[in-house]
Amino acid sequence: MTLNGKHALITGGGSGIGLTTARALADSGAQVTITGRRMGVLEAVTGAGIHPLAMDVTDEAQVVEGVARAVAERGPVQICIPNAGIAEGRALHRTDAAFWRQVMATNLDGAFYTVRECLSEMRGTDWGRVIAISSIAGIKGLKGAAAYTASKHGMIGLIRALSEDYLGTGLTFNAICPGYVDTEIVTRNVTAIAERAGIPEDEARALMVGANRHKRLIEPDEVAQAVLWLCGPGSQSVNGQAIEIAGGQF
Ligand code: NDP
Repeated sequence: MTLNGKHALITGGGSGIGLTTARALADSGAQVTITGRRMGVLEAVTGAGIHPLAMDVTDEAQVVEGVARAVAERGPVQICIPNAGIAEGRALHRTDAAFWRQVMATNLDGAFYTVRECLSEMRGTDWGRVIAISSIAGIKGLKGAAAYTASKHGMIGLIRALSEDYLGTGLTFNAICPGYVDTEIVTRNVTAIAERAGIPEDEARALMVGANRHKRLIEPDEVAQAVLWLCGPGSQSVNGQAIEIAGGQF
């Protein structure tokens, strides 16, 4: 499959799932804009076909300006991947309004701003892919993580609504819903769970690994390969779906 000349934009593209996906798309010929808050991190991973753009997805003005700059440099975004996210678990009774807002602002508002801005040019074309990186927490409740679960369910709602709005246009809208993937997010959560539960880190890690039904962490490349498939010719009729990559939760 070739994505030669196609412009992809991935929020949170400087690390983890976003970076692995950016590299897979660039290897297939796409020009990939990667965004994040820390320009130093983005610049450090820039390579052939990968272009850094500093943009905080919680700030509407930064997203409007950032996407406009990417479009001016590389043309309309044809593959839009809202991926930036924070994944801190917190029980509802410990969730104050500030924490709730921070999770929503990053995971859901950020996806809304990014998709809206990318769509402003994409909607006039006959081919486009919006692929949201949601979570298994977008399909089922994740224990002790009410805000995260709500935000990830919201991303799937956004995708499903847009798949109706643009039916038959050549634009498709899907979400990928991974279980625990081997990235910094898991490392940070292992530490947090170990501290909260008063258990050793290897026990906390085993709990997370065990939550994936096939009892291993998912590789970031497994998510990237699903993104590539959604960009390829074999998935043209896949639209409005939440695709689980979690070892068989359902
Ligand atoms: P990372 O922490 O490596 O990636 C998160 C990225 O989001 C970072 O690059 C970070 O960049 C960016 N980001 C965070 N806040 C903002 C913000 N306000 N503005 C712009 N960028 C921001 O973890 P993952 O790769 O694992 O996570 C990627 C996505 O995958 C997330 O949405 C996560 O919820 C989802 N996911 C992850 C799973 C896992 O187990 N790892 C499982 C299911 C879903 P910077 O800090 O430089 O801004």
